Amino acid sequence: MSDESAEEPAEPFAPSRWKRVVLKISGEALASTSSDETIDSAIVSRLAKEIAASCGEFGTEMAVVVGGGNIWRGTLGAGEGMDRATSDAMGMLGTVINALALQDAIERAGQPTRVLSAVHMAEVCEPYIRRRALRHLEKGRVVILAAGMGSPYFTTDTPAALRAAEIDAEVIMKGTHSGVDGVYSADPRIRPDAVRYDEIGFMDVISQDLRVMDLTAVTFCRDNQIPILVFDIMSPGNVRAALAGERIGTLIS
Ligand code: UDP
Repeated sequence: MSDESAEEPAEPFAPSRWKRVVLKISGEALASTSSDETIDSAIVSRLAKEIAASCGEFGTEMAVVVGGGNIWRGTLGAGEGMDRATSDAMGMLGTVINALALQDAIERAGQPTRVLSAVHMAEVCEPYIRRRALRHLEKGRVVILAAGMGSPYFTTDTPAALRAAEIDAEVIMKGTHSGVDGVYSADPRIRPDAVRYDEIGFMDVISQDLRVMDLTAVTFCRDNQIPILVFDIMSPGNVRAALAGERIGTLIS
């Protein structure tokens, strides 16, 4: 629970800094809050600078899994009678657009990157190949993973978990963008009395149906012992704090 009144300062979440992480950024985090722009270059640039600076400062190996909800969601089209697989393919293509926007901004901030897509499109980015992703990480490149898993009927939360396992990441950092800065006992936007957990177990998240991430992803992380840090990515300085292992947000483990 978020009781900070203990006299001893709480231990950081990571023994030192996290060394290899998957950062999940929702597409909606990239959208403008004040206009109808699907990609707000000021937001992308701010995030990119923070990613570049903190990876550079800490030497963190980072794979970014980016969503596409600012452009399209498969369930949207399916709800209107579209073929679900086609609608999901549109969603996956949306994630590629976001990945390219992030790539451009992170590289302008001085940090080399590679976009690896699960849907192959050789003209714009590399295909996702696990060993290639690992090589890029070892060389200090931020790897941006696009098109989720390449399969319909998933959101990008589950590929974030899958890729974290594949590349042996120590943690998934799930950035929130709705103003909710961690895992709460209930939705704090509806229930002001909801309490924020500093740490919580996978089973509690599942049994209490705390919808911080897709259940498939949470279950996968539980089965494969990959902790999830849920934190507010829109707050400047939080990416750095998360990579530094500071106690921000909620750690699910
Ligand atoms: N998607 C998919 N398979 C995947 C990942 C994503 O079909 O492995 C599609 C799905 O339609 C989803 C959309 O891409 O709604 C955008 O991803 P997501 O909803 O995760 O975006 P976010 O909410 O993170 O912005």
